[in-house]
Amino acid sequence: MGVLPEQTTYLVIGAGVHGLSTAWHLAMELRARGKGSGDDIVVVDKTAPGAGATGIACGCVRNFYMTEPMHALMRHSADVWMSDPIRLGFQQVGYISAGEENQQADYERIVANQNAVGYHSDIYVGKDAKKFLKSIWPDFNVDQVGVCHFEQPSGYAGTRQAVAGMAEKCAEQGVRVLSGIEVEGYDVTNGQITKVRTSVGEIACDVVVICVGAWIGKHWQMLGQPMKLDCAYPDGGTAEKDMWTYWRLLEGEVYFDQPYRTADDKDPPVLHVELMNTPVINEQTGEEMDDHLYVYWKNGAERMDRPGIQGGTIPIRIGPEAAVEPYGHANDTYQADPWFPDYMTSAMGHLMARFKGHRRKFRDRRNGGIGAFTPDNVPIFDWVLPNAYMIADSNHGFKLAGVGKLVARLLAGDNRVSELEPFTYARFAEGRTFGSSNSHCPWV
Ligand SMILES: Cc1cc2nc3c(=O)[nH]c(=O)nc-3n(C[C@H](O)[C@H](O)[C@H](O)COP(=O)(O)OP(=O)(O)OC[C@H]3O[C@@H](n4cnc5c(N)ncnc54)[C@H](O)[C@@H]3O)c2cc1C
Repeated sequence: MGVLPEQTTYLVIGAGVHGLSTAWHLAMELRARGKGSGDDIVVVDKTAPGAGATGIACGCVRNFYMTEPMHALMRHSADVWMSDPIRLGFQQVGYISAGEENQQADYERIVANQNAVGYHSDIYVGKDAKKFLKSIWPDFNVDQVGVCHFEQPSGYAGTRQAVAGMAEKCAEQGVRVLSGIEVEGYDVTNGQITKVRTSVGEIACDVVVICVGAWIGKHWQMLGQPMKLDCAYPDGGTAEKDMWTYWRLLEGEVYFDQPYRTADDKDPPVLHVELMNTPVINEQTGEEMDDHLYVYWKNGAERMDRPGIQGGTIPIRIGPEAAVEPYGHANDTYQADPWFPDYMTSAMGHLMARFKGHRRKFRDRRNGGIGAFTPDNVPIFDWVLPNAYMIADSNHGFKLAGVGKLVARLLAGDNRVSELEPFTYARFAEGRTFGSSNSHCPWV
C-alpha cells in the first residue's frame, strides 16, 4: 500500500484498463500542453492493478459492432495497443467474424463504416466468404457460412502483460498508482466533489475519474444517482430500465496438442462466429444444446500453461443485483456452468475438424467473471458531476483502451471530443438511447 497524499489535482479510482490508460494518457497530455505532469495524478485501487475484469479478460480487441459510433473509438484503441505492442502484450493478428446470409446487410454496413472512420476491414460474401475462411483454416466447416469480414487492426492482448505494461507507463510518467486503498465515500459541496473518503483517510482533489468496472453501481449510489432510468429511443419510444444490469461471462480454455496456426503458419486472427439458424449439437450425446451457435476464440497464449485455445460464448444475464465481492474467479456463484465445456468444445468441433473430440481437453478450472452493463449495453463516458468523470464501459474494456486517451483530452481542458459524444449519459433522456442489434449477444 502506498501513502495517500492529502491532495491531488486528479484522482483516478480503479486501476483496470481504463483507470491506467486514462492516467497514463492524461500525464502525457498535461505535459504536452505545459499544464502539469503525472505528478498531478493519483490512481487508487482497493486491491491492486488488474484486480477486476481487466485481470481475467479474454483480451480480444475487435471492432465488430452494429452500434456504429463504436467504430471510431476502436481506431484509437488499436493505436494505443500498437503504440507499444511488446510491453502491452498485444498481438495484432486481426479479427474475423463469420455469419449466415441473414447478417449480410449488417456486415456490409459495419465494414463500410469501419473503413469510413479509418479502421481497415474487408468483407467476403457467399462463395468468397467460404474460400477466404478455408484459406486461413483449411478444416473450417463453411457449410452454413454466408458472410464474413476481416479486421486488420484488431487482435488480442495478454491481460497480465497489459496490466503490467500500463502500470509501467503510468510510473514512467510519474503517476502514483496506490494499491490497497478503497474509496468509501464522496464529500460533495455545491454539486462538486471536494474530498474523497478512503479506507486510509481523506484526499482532497479537483477532479475525480471513476473507473471501477463492475463496482460502478455502488459508486453510482454513493453519488446519489437513480437506479432506474427512463430511456428515450430515436423512434419516439420510451422504456424504464435498470441503470445497471449484471451479466456473467462464460469463458474457458481447451488444450490443443499441435500449435494452433493458420494455413501459412501464423497465429490465427481472433475468430467470432454467430450462426443464427444452426443448432449446437452435443458431440458426446447427440442432443441439441441450443438452436443457434455463438462462439469466439483465439490462441490461449499467456493464459495457458501449455498450448491451447481461450474462448467463450454469450454471457448470461443476472439482473440488477449481483454480489460483486469476491470478484471473478474467487466467486463461487459466477463460474462458467457445467454445460459450458460441452457447448464450447461441440461448437469448436462443428466449426473446425481439428477440434473434434476435444471435450476431454477442456481445461477444468475456474473461469468467468461478471460485468455491469448499461441500459442499452453501450458504454457511458460522461461527467456525472461537474468534476467527476465516469468511464462505464459495459464490459467492452480491452476493445476500448483508447477511451482513456480521448478522456485525457477532456480532462486536460478540451471542451469536446467528438468520438465520445454519442456515449454521454444524456443520450437516454435525449432520445439517443441505442437500440437492439441483430445478434443474440449484448456485445454486438
Ligand atoms: C471473463 C471476462 C472476459 C472478458 N473478455 C474481454 C475481451 O475479450 N475483450 C474485451 O474488450 N473485454 C473483455 N472483458 C471486459 C473487460 O475485461 C472489462 O470491460 C474491462 O476490463 C473493465 O475495465 P475497468 O478498468 O472499467 O474495470 P476493472 O478492470 O474491473 O477495474 C476496476 C478496478 O476498480 C477497483 N475498485 C473497485 N471499487 C473500488 C473502490 N471503492 N476503491 C478503489 N478501487 C476500487 C477494483 O479493485 C478494480 O481493480 C471481459 C470481462 C470478463 C469478466
